[in-house]
Amino acid sequence: TARKRFGQNFLTDENIISRIVGAISPDNDHVMVEIGPGLAALTEPVAESIDNLTVVELDRDLVERLQVHPVLKDKLTIYQGDALQFDFGQLKQDGKKMKVFGNLPYNISTPLMFHLFEFADQIETMHFMLQKEVVLRLSASPGTKAYGRLTVMAQYYCQVVPVLEVPPGCFTPPPKVDSAVVRLLPYADKPWPCKDVNVMRNLVTTAFNMRRKTLRNNLKTLLNDDDFASLNIDATLRPEQISVEQYVAMANRLFDKKSAS
Ligand code: SAM
Repeated sequence: TARKRFGQNFLTDENIISRIVGAISPDNDHVMVEIGPGLAALTEPVAESIDNLTVVELDRDLVERLQVHPVLKDKLTIYQGDALQFDFGQLKQDGKKMKVFGNLPYNISTPLMFHLFEFADQIETMHFMLQKEVVLRLSASPGTKAYGRLTVMAQYYCQVVPVLEVPPGCFTPPPKVDSAVVRLLPYADKPWPCKDVNVMRNLVTTAFNMRRKTLRNNLKTLLNDDDFASLNIDATLRPEQISVEQYVAMANRLFDKKSAS
C-alpha cells in the first residue's frame, strides 16, 4: 500500500507512461538517473532500451523489491536514501552528463528543484512529474501571480518547457491535485551569468519576502536608490514585475559592492 508520508502516487496509465518515456528519450550516452522509482512504472520502460539506470529511492521496502526484480536487478544501480541530501555530482562518469527524471513526491518538489539546480552544469535534461501548479510557477512570465522565487531561479539555470498535463486518474491512488510533466534544460551557456549564485539566491529570496511590497522596500538592506538608478530598474515595482535578467543585474551589482567594501 502507498505511504502518504512518502508522497506515493504511482503512475498506472500506460499511454501517459509511454509519452513520458518518449520525452525523456533514454540513451547510453548519458548517465540516466531516476528519483523515486517506486513500483518501477517509469523505471521498467526506461531501462528497457539502455544498459544502466541509477535510481535514488527513500523507501527501504521499495528498494528491496527493486533489488530482486527479475528484469531490472542487473541494470539498476540503487541508492537508498533521501534525494534532497543526495550528492548527484558523484554519478558523473567518463565525462557523460546526466539525464534526470522522476515522478516526484510533491511534498518535497520545490526544495528538490533547488537542490538539483546546484548540479545543473552536469545535467543535460530533467523531466519531472509535478503538481500542475508548480509547473505553472516554473514556466511563469514576469507580471503574473505564479512568478516568484522558484521561477526566477529555475529560469536562471534552465530553459523551462511544460510537456503535458496529467489528470489524477492516471495514478493509483489518485492525488488530490492536477499534475503535469515539465522539461528543464540547463543552459550550457547561461544567457545572463551571475558572478556568485549564493548572492543571487539570497537576493531573490529577499526580494520575494513580501510580494505586496515594492522592490525598494524588500531589498532596502541590500541595494539603494543609486543602485537601482544605475541599473535602470524602477524600484517602485513589485518583485514579480522584475525579469530574470534584471535579478541577475541586481545580484551582480550587490556582488561588486560587497567585493569593493
Ligand atoms: N515513480 C513512481 C511512479 O511513477 O509510479 C513512484 C512515484 S511516487 C509519486 C514518489 C516516489 O518517491 C515513491 O517511490 C517514494 O517512496 C519516493 N520518495 C519519497 N520521498 C523521497 C525522497 N526524499 N528521496 C527519494 N525518493 C523519495
